[in-house]
Amino acid sequence: GEGPAPVLTARGLVREFRGFRAVDGVDLDIAAGDVHALVGPNGAGKTTLFNLLTGFLRPTAGSVLLEGRRELAGRSPETIARLGVARSFQITSLFAEMTPRRHVELALASRTGLGWRFWRSDRALDRFAPRAAELLDQVGLGEHGDTLAGALSYGRKRALELALALALDPKVLLLDEPTAGMGVEDVDRTVELVRRIRTGRTVVLVEHNMNVVASLADKVTVLQHGAVLAEGPYGEIRNDPRVIAAYLGD
Ligand code: ADP
Repeated sequence: GEGPAPVLTARGLVREFRGFRAVDGVDLDIAAGDVHALVGPNGAGKTTLFNLLTGFLRPTAGSVLLEGRRELAGRSPETIARLGVARSFQITSLFAEMTPRRHVELALASRTGLGWRFWRSDRALDRFAPRAAELLDQVGLGEHGDTLAGALSYGRKRALELALALALDPKVLLLDEPTAGMGVEDVDRTVELVRRIRTGRTVVLVEHNMNVVASLADKVTVLQHGAVLAEGPYGEIRNDPRVIAAYLGD
């Protein structure tokens, strides 16, 4: 029979760069509550697809539906985040001279729609301190709330990015290579963290590390040349000869 209703659906998604199709007619169903991994060799179109789903790129053609109803294609990242589809921030957007606590408080404040001028004073932001502390705890930064973000280790900066995305309380959380550049310990910590935060939400992740995919993903979509090559549980796709050939470089 039918599985749970998809929370995110892409149909005929295309993105061209000067005539070159980086994403070439992708259909995708992300089931509510799943951790869904997007994998594929370099240049397969993972990042482009990720950017299409989050509004950082506009599709040349096709549709992205939230809960089968709301069209996301062509909307801004801010609008898409407000509708419940958020990506983890990039380290490059952290403020080195600001504490993790303040970062999270500002992310919480951004949901009020009151505008930055209202939140300029530190006193106003203090009302978010309890929730900020919870979120920092959740990502393992409970002890580091008052360190300057610039002084955090790489792994902890990535954890802070996650806290900022969680502050938006998204239905769908998109993670772009959450373990990229990490050593084994930070990779393990990140896998545990994603396990903890997935409860009650849907997670879409682009991930190169197949051990991470194996331990986290309910479903895997393999892309090649901008199109879906295979889809299924990790245990199935890892033995698919087409997938093996794609990774060996056809
Ligand atoms: P992946 O994330 O799977 O490595 P990308 O989505 O980054 O793949 O890229 C897919 C293809 O689209 C690649 O051939 C890449 O060179 C091309 N591409 C991506 N972004 C652009 C761009 N802004 N301009 C031109 N070509 C691009």
